[in-house]
Amino acid sequence: MKRSIKTVAIIGGGPSGCALATLLKRKGFTVAVFYLEKRPEIIVGESLVPAIIPFLRKLGVEDEVKTYSTYKPGASVWVNKDEEATSPFSFGGGGLPHYAYNVPRTQFDKTIFDLALREGVTFFNQAAKLEKTGNGDELKLGDETLASIHGFFGGQPHLIVDTSGRSRTIARLLNIPTRAGYRKDVALFAHLSGAEKIEPYNIHLHRLAKGWTWRIPLPDRISVGVVINPEHLGEYGSNKEEQYDNILKRDETLVKFTKNAKRETGVMQYDNYQLISQKMYGKNWLLAGDAGGFLDPIFSSGLFLAIKGAFAAADAIEAGTDKAFSKYQRYQLYELSIWQKLVDTWYSGSLFTLFKVGQDRMDTAFGRFIGPHMQRHLTRIFSGEAVYRFYSRGFLNFVLGPMISLMKLGRLHNRNIKDLEIK
Ligand SMILES: Cc1cc2nc3c(=O)[nH]c(=O)nc-3n(C[C@H](O)[C@H](O)[C@H](O)COP(=O)(O)OP(=O)(O)OC[C@H]3O[C@@H](n4cnc5c(N)ncnc54)[C@H](O)[C@@H]3O)c2cc1C
Repeated sequence: MKRSIKTVAIIGGGPSGCALATLLKRKGFTVAVFYLEKRPEIIVGESLVPAIIPFLRKLGVEDEVKTYSTYKPGASVWVNKDEEATSPFSFGGGGLPHYAYNVPRTQFDKTIFDLALREGVTFFNQAAKLEKTGNGDELKLGDETLASIHGFFGGQPHLIVDTSGRSRTIARLLNIPTRAGYRKDVALFAHLSGAEKIEPYNIHLHRLAKGWTWRIPLPDRISVGVVINPEHLGEYGSNKEEQYDNILKRDETLVKFTKNAKRETGVMQYDNYQLISQKMYGKNWLLAGDAGGFLDPIFSSGLFLAIKGAFAAADAIEAGTDKAFSKYQRYQLYELSIWQKLVDTWYSGSLFTLFKVGQDRMDTAFGRFIGPHMQRHLTRIFSGEAVYRFYSRGFLNFVLGPMISLMKLGRLHNRNIKDLEIK
């Protein structure tokens, strides 16, 4: 059945909302975005993956993003304070650009917002109030909200899209069932000056004694985030600033890189962010970006999935059929589930174990044969390509699971190599 969609209200003016608004406007829809001008001092989500670049080009904003961002040629991962593995994206080969950017988020969000403005999208600086109607699966803009926009849609919009990020406006209103990730970590994050960079432009990911940390080089600051199980937080202080500062002072890996650093911003805290709605559309609504589902920050997939998802949502809305909406939902859930499998290999420690096993076996014929192959496909995790290549997915599934187990069973690697899970 084809829905007659000509007018679309979008709730949330972040990257997914503004990208979707732009694409719909280009397709001839009447679109308005409800957005909140007030944003936090700093916004998390500053490391992009190469997989986002083709979408930035299609939107026509890569050149602008480049002007205020740090060029990002790869990722460096520390297994512990002295053991580092660096992967330039070029090691991944494949069809993607061999770079990405580290972006100051306020500027990045403004770029996508300004693009939508230039394309003729209308913005309302207010939180839209939504109400349930019909059998409870239908939504409408509340009377007050509708009155405040002076008949912009000529009545109710035909479709309401939730891109309100982790506020999850529609999912909460409709009580949509969710799948929560098994990790219940807290992320604390701030900008520092004077923190040490090893590979100057790469994202740096460190496994810590408790949790893990990112260091993202921005043009004049370094974004440092600590992801930690909340059970450990109390040991570091009674408020988020104390906890963040003390983790940096006490963790021996962080001390090494941040001992001369100064915190330049407040500390932001994010809880319970592994959450995926199991239903992404209804009679007259759709979820996109984080409002539909967010996995985990580890592989910097958030903005890529948000923007890529905006393209998929725009196509589904243009097709306007139940089949297209259902396909959109199926694909979003499928894509998130594949990313989830990769995320799990970080927390279970199998990625680190594979790295150690690789080092241990490098001087054997098998090690020399498989090493470059392994490096290529592991790099594709960090570029975002692994999820979309059938062979990479299969190969990684094998080496990160059965292969390590078989090697353990056959005592084919050093028995001192322990599983290096994230505590
Ligand atoms: C700890 C952490 C680290 C991360 N690191 C990275 C990273 O390095 N790289 C990466 O790509 N991603 C990262 N992410 C994910 C990334 O931040 C998100 O995936 C991305 O911001 C999603 O974009 P979005 O447009 O869907 O939502 P958002 O960026 O959250 O935008 C939603 C917008 O909606 C607005 N809004 C909310 N409620 C309403 C309302 N009722 N009415 C109107 N407006 C509303 C908000 O103000 C906001 O502007 C990280 C996330 C976390 C939690």
